[in-house]
Amino acid sequence: MGDSFKKCIFACASDDITNPVKSNKILDTVKLKINQVIKQRLSDSEKIVLVSHVNPDGDAVGSALALHHYLKNSGKTSHVIMPNNYPDFLKWLPGSKEVIILTRNESEAQYVLSNADFIFLLDFNNPDRAGKVKDIINGGQAFKVMIDHHPNPSEFADIAYCDILSSSTAELVFRFIEMAGNPELVDNTVATCLYTGIMSDTGSFSYNSSQPETYRVLSELLKRGIDKDHIYSMVYDNFSENRLKLLGYCLDRKMVVLPEYKTAYISLTIKEKKQYNYIRGDAEGFVNYPLSIKGIDFVAFFMENDDHVKLSFRSKGKFDTNDFAVKNFNGGGHINASGGESKLNLEDTINKFVSLLPHIRVD
Ligand code: 5GP
Ligand code: MN
Repeated sequence: MGDSFKKCIFACASDDITNPVKSNKILDTVKLKINQVIKQRLSDSEKIVLVSHVNPDGDAVGSALALHHYLKNSGKTSHVIMPNNYPDFLKWLPGSKEVIILTRNESEAQYVLSNADFIFLLDFNNPDRAGKVKDIINGGQAFKVMIDHHPNPSEFADIAYCDILSSSTAELVFRFIEMAGNPELVDNTVATCLYTGIMSDTGSFSYNSSQPETYRVLSELLKRGIDKDHIYSMVYDNFSENRLKLLGYCLDRKMVVLPEYKTAYISLTIKEKKQYNYIRGDAEGFVNYPLSIKGIDFVAFFMENDDHVKLSFRSKGKFDTNDFAVKNFNGGGHINASGGESKLNLEDTINKFVSLLPHIRVD
């Protein structure tokens, strides 16, 4: 293995791909590297592991399972490891039963990780996002390939294939497979996982989805015969009655609208979660609802947990929630969708948030 593979980041933006002047040169380099990686490194590897970030979402699980099936189609076995559990509305994904959840099966996860010789790091770009998987990622002998679409990647992988304009990691996984030279290995199963990733990271194509490249990839996935309406239904029409009642309660009783700051927020206490028999994923997407109020372009959702408050941010237009989350709540994400954490109690966290509002806008 030559040193040429070491610490190599490709910030290959979608607009490069659609710009014929820039595209050929960049793509040829990326393609060549990915080809080399696949042909030499990956094909020599016996213990391939796919990992994603804490609180895995549809893109995290969809990307990892897509690569898992793709590798199977190419005659390779792999293990998928998630740092903690993920919502039930993703459990129908093909291969979901094979996923090792570290918090449930720590010894197996640690064993698989520490013996890995090739690790794909999917949908995150900083080891801090990987929970307990962090130490293994930082150390260990495995060759690491990161595929991700978040801004400001840190240099911890051997190869990083990043595109911050891409809708999702799932879209990039498809492009990665194409560049590896075997898109024919993307069958209906792989395509179903990838479509789920793209659909969930774009709020069903309502944001993060203005690049023509996304639709080229989607068109390729549809050619594999996926049932997109069924996938939508499995993800969005599979919730409990409790979730809908909790949504009603949040919107009616817990939403605070601050028109002077074009902002709204919702908070949920541990007690309230218990009242509604909350299970993981029940509040997924609640943060988006207040954005539909005329004049509101920034929304926060505060979720009280035992030892911290989890925050989710969404915006419309230019307000950069990633920057806001990085600076104030030890978080990150994308311009219009990000998250963070607070060790203050719920009330103090909300007070801190509200006190920041007069200072965050330039316009
Ligand atoms: P969500 O609000 O759906 O949990 O997350 C929205 C986006 O923000 C996702 O891209 C997710 O990866 C990112 N994100 C959420 N929480 C955190 C966090 O605590 N730290 C960082 N760096 N990113 C986060
Ligand atoms: Mn993503």
